[in-house]
Amino acid sequence: MRIRFAALAAILSISIASAAAQTAAWPEPDAAAKQLALGIFRQLIDINTTDSVGSITAASQAMQQRFVDAGFPASDIYLGGPNDRKQNLVVRYRGTGAHAPILFIGHLDVVEARRSDWTTDPFQFLEKDGYYYGRGTQDMKDCDAILVATFLRLHQEGYKPDRDLILALTADEEGGQANGVDWLLRNHRDLINAEFAFNPDGGGVELNEGKPVAADVDATEKLYADYQLIVTNPGGHSSLPVPDNAIYHLADALEKVQHYKFPFELNAITRAYFEKLSTLEKGQSAADMKRMLANPPDPAAIRRLSEEREWNATMRTTCVATRLLAGHANNALPQMAQANINCRILPGHSREEVRQDLIRVIDNPKVTVNYVADNGEASATAPEGKGVPPIALKPEVMQPLQKLVDVYWPNTPVIADMADGASDSKYTNTAGIPTYNWSAIELDPADMRAHGQDERLPVDSFWKGVQFWPQFIKTLTGGGPQAQP
Ligand SMILES: [Zn+2]
Repeated sequence: MRIRFAALAAILSISIASAAAQTAAWPEPDAAAKQLALGIFRQLIDINTTDSVGSITAASQAMQQRFVDAGFPASDIYLGGPNDRKQNLVVRYRGTGAHAPILFIGHLDVVEARRSDWTTDPFQFLEKDGYYYGRGTQDMKDCDAILVATFLRLHQEGYKPDRDLILALTADEEGGQANGVDWLLRNHRDLINAEFAFNPDGGGVELNEGKPVAADVDATEKLYADYQLIVTNPGGHSSLPVPDNAIYHLADALEKVQHYKFPFELNAITRAYFEKLSTLEKGQSAADMKRMLANPPDPAAIRRLSEEREWNATMRTTCVATRLLAGHANNALPQMAQANINCRILPGHSREEVRQDLIRVIDNPKVTVNYVADNGEASATAPEGKGVPPIALKPEVMQPLQKLVDVYWPNTPVIADMADGASDSKYTNTAGIPTYNWSAIELDPADMRAHGQDERLPVDSFWKGVQFWPQFIKTLTGGGPQAQP
């Protein structure tokens, strides 16, 4: 998935949009760079990489050919995966070796898309009215193309980074049984081992009415979990009701879940996030954030801040009822009542821990709380694995990032945040490779179409990404920023 923006725009726009400078006029890249990046983008969109009928291998091979043609040594290009359709591509760009490598990961697979649902053919790249259309234009073939073009351009100009750069284009982030990052870590860790990584499957520049308001870096993720609440009962004739009723038990349980708030808890990332926000917000919110960050935190301030849904989701695990099913006839007592509860769990806690929390909150042995796995199967226990702890933000990453954001999107704060979804970064982070979700793609949250119909990317967003990444990589690897927009 492409992780949603933190939706800071709505929150921050009031306080800082007025301070945001007009976006500098961005010259488009030179003709050769443009042709290269656009050609790759088009090629990737035109190759169907859905799990059902697509081929990751076709996309990997197309990119492989480009690196071969550009003169990358065959020994620095690896194509491999668990089966014929799910081959991942790993390319190593040799540096001086003064530091350990940087890894860049991008998933090549896309979410299913039906021609009949779309205005245009989802698997045919199309430029129209200032947008590029096609499945994957936002999630995330835009950034796959940008990274491939970046590697090729740096190579062409003979740039020598002070460390190896590794690009891994991979399978099955959106689903499927052959996740490429997981597979590479298990089978070819040496190929992608790095000091840290970037995953452009999240983070980016939020626009509000065309103006940049925040540059988000997702530095940690919540853990996704579904639970099934189920009550069974012998039932009977509805003319003779009894207190022991499956629907009433379930309704009581749902009401308890509704009113329960998981404990307030900040981690290094969310604490830093609120510290930054407290300097950008004004009035009561700013004061409350400072009281919330104090030791001990002020419960009244937490309560007020919890009314803002984004902040509430940042400071605690959340659980919410999302589906309901009960009864079998209008004139019969219900034999079964069930609900789905969807939870987003803070790093450091497990799905089983939250299942136990739900059992305790519901406090009714008639209500069974099952965990629902990704394949839909319900079970009496949940996985014990905890969400990955947040990464430590390296100054050697964050400082160059802010420096370049200042150039490309003046007066736009870089804000590290916690995503409420999960990406392939969970694998690299778990493997000890701290991963920054950052895309350099600018979007208005209102125009998020990842996974949806008529997915599209503003033409300007693409060109900004094409310009940003080579400069950023140079800044990170000893080359320093060069041309400015
Ligand atoms: Zn994605």
